Amino acid sequence: MATSRHVLIVEDEPPIRELLRLHLELVGFNVSEVADGRAALDVIRSRPFDLIVLDVMLPGVDGITLCRAARAEGANVSTPLLMLTARDTESDKVLGLESGADDYLTKPFGMRELMARVSALLRRATRADRPAEAPPPRHLAFRNLAIDVDKRQVVAHGHPVDLTRQEFDLLQLLASRPGIVFSRMALLTKIWSGDEYVTERTVDTVVSRLRKKIERDAQDPELILTAWGVGYKFADVE
Ligand code: CA
Repeated sequence: MATSRHVLIVEDEPPIRELLRLHLELVGFNVSEVADGRAALDVIRSRPFDLIVLDVMLPGVDGITLCRAARAEGANVSTPLLMLTARDTESDKVLGLESGADDYLTKPFGMRELMARVSALLRRATRADRPAEAPPPRHLAFRNLAIDVDKRQVVAHGHPVDLTRQEFDLLQLLASRPGIVFSRMALLTKIWSGDEYVTERTVDTVVSRLRKKIERDAQDPELILTAWGVGYKFADVE
């Protein structure tokens, strides 16, 4: 990681804030800390950061409101943003369509996991900054999977795979943002918009069919991973 990056930590619990600061400083971040939601709102609107780590439960203004505010206007509309949630039920809200967070971690979390997520977020942000990569990629390739977006063709483990429209759209959406968790509701809205008779269970069914077609072992998937209680994500592989 570059040494000049500036991270904002918004967390009201001193021990967690301290731990985050320590680890982020160790990898060269300049760290700013805020413990209160209202104060955070001012900072987020006025100063650009390279990364924001944001707790959901805060005094004053909660993290989800802060996240929406950051995305709506000001200096951090596209800053990589990692949310910290206390319960699995909060994760749903974090990953709801409007929150705008890039990723989340459920407390308690290990620092190794946190640093891995931070690295992944920054890698993606760097890639997205490159003007040559602005249009969505036409070819996606991972381990034993290749996706030709224009031809809507998929090759898995060296063999062409026949996918239905939903299966292909779902795969393309997940694979275009490796490591990012999509809630079932977000997937439904993006892939099945207009279809009236679908439920979140539909997403599980299509994922299960897709895994049988593209995974080496559908029972032990390496590409389409389950984010327990929330939804799915594509493996963050280089
Ligand atoms: Ca808190």
